[in-house]
Amino acid sequence: MKELLERLAEECFPYTNQGEVANYIPELAKANPDALGIYIISEDGKHHFAGESMHSFTIQSIVKPILLLLALSDNGIDSVGERVGVEATGKPFDAINVSDLRLDSHHLNPMVNMGAIVMCTLIKGSTYQEKFERILELIRELAGNPEIGIEEAVYRSEKSCGSKNRALAYLLKSYGMLNDDVEDVLDCYFKACSIAVTCKDLANIGFVLANRGCKPMTNERIVPSEYARYVNAILMTCGMYDGSGEFALRVGVPAKSGVGGGIMAVVPGKMGIGIYSPALDKKGNSVAGIQLLERVSRELQLSIF
Ligand code: GLN
Repeated sequence: MKELLERLAEECFPYTNQGEVANYIPELAKANPDALGIYIISEDGKHHFAGESMHSFTIQSIVKPILLLLALSDNGIDSVGERVGVEATGKPFDAINVSDLRLDSHHLNPMVNMGAIVMCTLIKGSTYQEKFERILELIRELAGNPEIGIEEAVYRSEKSCGSKNRALAYLLKSYGMLNDDVEDVLDCYFKACSIAVTCKDLANIGFVLANRGCKPMTNERIVPSEYARYVNAILMTCGMYDGSGEFALRVGVPAKSGVGGGIMAVVPGKMGIGIYSPALDKKGNSVAGIQLLERVSRELQLSIF
């Protein structure tokens, strides 16, 4: 497996030239576009990796499935479903999901920004700092890594340049879909996006989702299986935003991307995979990362279809 991953990573390395690192969050523009890493945890609990698998980067949108897990645990499926819909938006992650000048919960999806911002309001906590600490705690638990924290520079960078997310949040507020103070909610969202992880952390989190809510090896339950199933279904249909259909054809497993260059893939019943390569396509998905996942999926026959 090690040789296979090293060979595939080498084959995909040239694709790092075909994307651009995110620059709408200035701090992210400092990433090295040539980096590529992969970490896999397989069903026998074995770890396999290649390339820059221990490089630390910000989780960005890959935090969205964790926000959803926590919102589900705090409120249950029905109540979350009433506030944030489940249909794929087929639009970019920061799109304004309004149709016919109407905005309601069916226009939102937990895997795009408007839905994720509402998700922050659904997480329990007496302050937004407390909500954020619960998000961080769940990520540490899912990843089995108590050292995980935030990358301050990226947090401050996004907070100072987050006009688009502010616009989305105020729009939600104007439609009565966000009751709290916009800056408090966004502070929690920006901090959550700035949590620093490695491919190994993403592989661990992906494994818990693949294992219907239980940790590798010990099988200790972290989240109820029905919530893991809910999240995986939404990852399959909207985890790669408006690239989800093509991703389903090319790779065929639930996955989530982030503009930090990460991809977390969930191979149901089999594997958690973490990928890092920060050069992105126009949709905000890692170019070499998708290439590598496509090859891994083909070689190991991972597609669920
Ligand atoms: N923090 C980023 C934003 O809100 C996350 C987007 C992403 O990873 N696609 O714009």
